[in-house]
Amino acid sequence: MLEAKYIKELVKTEGFDLCGLTSCRHLALNEEAFGRWLAMGYDSSLGYMRNYLDKRFDVAKLVEGARTVVVCAVAYDGVIVSKIGDSAAANPKIASYACRRDYHKVIRKALLSVLRQLKERYPQLQGRAFVDSAPLVEKQLAVDAGLGWIGRQSLLVTPQYGSYLLLGELVLTDEADEYDVPLKAVGCGECRRCVDACPTGAIVSDMVINTARCISCHTVEASPDDNVDLHGWVFGCDECQKICPYNRSASQPRGVLLPRQFSPEDITAEEWLAMSEEDFQQRFGTTPLKRAGLKKIQYNISR
Ligand code: SF4
Ligand code: SF4
Repeated sequence: MLEAKYIKELVKTEGFDLCGLTSCRHLALNEEAFGRWLAMGYDSSLGYMRNYLDKRFDVAKLVEGARTVVVCAVAYDGVIVSKIGDSAAANPKIASYACRRDYHKVIRKALLSVLRQLKERYPQLQGRAFVDSAPLVEKQLAVDAGLGWIGRQSLLVTPQYGSYLLLGELVLTDEADEYDVPLKAVGCGECRRCVDACPTGAIVSDMVINTARCISCHTVEASPDDNVDLHGWVFGCDECQKICPYNRSASQPRGVLLPRQFSPEDITAEEWLAMSEEDFQQRFGTTPLKRAGLKKIQYNISR
């Protein structure tokens, strides 16, 4: 039996800001909602969302013998505005999560360090670490693990750190002595600021995003669609997070794992357009911007 308190101490020592434990269960309601989302075609060009549908909603089908999911979150400093329209920036805009090292590698390394230490204490334990790398319904797992709730913008929102968070999970084959439960009496209430702030109307209803309209998808993952106005964003989009009252009242993140490396406000469009591939690799080669590449960023600026 795994000791939940010990796991949480390890996770905190590795630099994570939040941690919760949940047992593995079939996420039937999420499966239904996802089916409706796919039926509407809201996955647009993100074809990979249709992969692993048989495993996506049941962790035990993804990892044989899975009993426990340890959900870990890193909070980061994101941009905050007090009212819609405050967010105009002269220079090309980049989502706050991308202004630091690529979270995939950093979080995975930290999770594997936790797993290694757990295996020293529990030699029979098997486990796997996930960071966006498998079809886990990670936001629902985070809700089940008592971290927060899913906001109208479909992101996890937490009372302590708002929504500027990145998630990683350890799936373990042993049971824990204690599991967390979803938070009570929390949620968005009557607030609809993120829905109103989305410049492209991509939040089509509560927790439902039409990726064909989402700037974040168009600048990072999807093929460019010239019909989508990027509103100055060249990689990602924080408009629906900038405005969230929970981000305004959030605690300062510890910044242990993912401190900020640069500020987009300091880099002009002219600098971006004149940048060489070599300079780009040197300055941004360890950040998520590498995924889009310089050419796509320059294209997003000049279109
Ligand atoms: S990331 Fe931007 S475009 Fe996408 S839903 Fe949020 S505000 Fe809208
Ligand atoms: S802006 Fe309002 S509705 Fe949107 S996630 Fe934050 S609290 Fe919820």
